[in-house]
Amino acid sequence: MQKQREGIKTRLTETDPEVANIIKAEEERQQTTLTMIPSENHVSPAVREASASILINKYSEGYPTKRYYQGQAHADEIETLAIDRAKQLFGAEHVNVQPNSGSPANQAVFLAVLEKGDTFMGLNLTHGGHLTHGSPVNFSGRYFTPVHYAVDEKTERIDLDQVRELARRHKPKLIISGFTAYPRTFDFAGFQSIADEVGALHLADISHIAGLVVAGVHASPFPAAQFVTTTTHKTLRGPRGAIIMSHEKYAKAINKAVFPGLQGGPHEHTIAAKAVAFGEALQPSFKEYAAQIVANAKALAETLMAEGIKLVTDGTDTHLLLIDLRPLGIGLGRPMAASLEQGGIVTNCNTVPFDPSSPFKPSGVRLGTPTLTTRGMKETEMRSIGTWIAEIIHDPNNEGLQQKIRGQVLELCKQFPLDI
Ligand SMILES: *Cc1c(COP(=O)(O)O)cnc(C)c1O
Repeated sequence: MQKQREGIKTRLTETDPEVANIIKAEEERQQTTLTMIPSENHVSPAVREASASILINKYSEGYPTKRYYQGQAHADEIETLAIDRAKQLFGAEHVNVQPNSGSPANQAVFLAVLEKGDTFMGLNLTHGGHLTHGSPVNFSGRYFTPVHYAVDEKTERIDLDQVRELARRHKPKLIISGFTAYPRTFDFAGFQSIADEVGALHLADISHIAGLVVAGVHASPFPAAQFVTTTTHKTLRGPRGAIIMSHEKYAKAINKAVFPGLQGGPHEHTIAAKAVAFGEALQPSFKEYAAQIVANAKALAETLMAEGIKLVTDGTDTHLLLIDLRPLGIGLGRPMAASLEQGGIVTNCNTVPFDPSSPFKPSGVRLGTPTLTTRGMKETEMRSIGTWIAEIIHDPNNEGLQQKIRGQVLELCKQFPLDI
């Protein structure tokens, strides 16, 4: 490494120990606890290296070969590579790799095809939908007219008859399929036929399940869906960010919506990390990884249910489980997630369908297996972890028990260290 300027220290630990120490402590936290938040994952060292690369310095407003500043040879190369790999991975006609995260990706689709006030459909937030699917506190609910479909109260699964009935009645311009807290497979083909019937566009938001989709563990919304958005940092194991895929017909509208519609200069260092993650997901081993995520989730679900814990839909088809704590009391999600964290098990509180409590005091806990699977854990470990979770849930104020489990978690984490 060439010295920058005489006398100037250049490494974080030297220049800013305060920040360096916080980062070090976070590394220790991740290394010594079980991350079971289903929207999180651990990226490979290669993804992190690309994400911290020299591309961070470059301004590249526009798109490859159509930029506003000079010096774009390598920014163009990296963005084109990311696009080509995403096309190959998902079988998409058009890909925009610039969205900074999942929410702006969805925003860009709205901007591309809807006018202010237009009606669209999405899954109810408290039933597993995302904020950008029409929550009143989000741009999608403030500037557009959402119609929400829900899960069936008995089966807790999406009822396509209800979706069809609502679509016929409200004639939405856009129907969003996809979820942030729903443990079952999504019938994208069913949504497509409803969208086609009422003349709506279909946006499949596969943010949570992109890794499962590319591995063939979950059905793909392609080639039928006009738009597919996904974050890159969940089951896909890439950097924080998102991509928008669409039919070629909408390529121009989508690109214009992202830039100059919503964003300025793209984060080419993140785009480089996306390219690395797509390269990893194109490896045959990624299929095994994604299949193991689901096998682990199923093993965990079986253990929890055998221990008398109620799961929304009584199981899972994906990477995600939703514990329904209503049989133990209303609004217990938040304190339960805190008790689990005392035991070294990091989850998040979440509403369950028809939750009588509020989103701030929900009655469920959401958890998943992507990160544990990344660490190399399999069904055997899921059964141990499921037993620990159940012990804490049945005795949430027992600090001695939490400490005992904290020790067991630590041992397990040492056996399956994170690759950092
Ligand atoms: C996570 C998620 C998003 C938003 O992603 P951010 O990167 O947090 O903005 C959008 N839609 C769905 C379905 C998600 O799960």
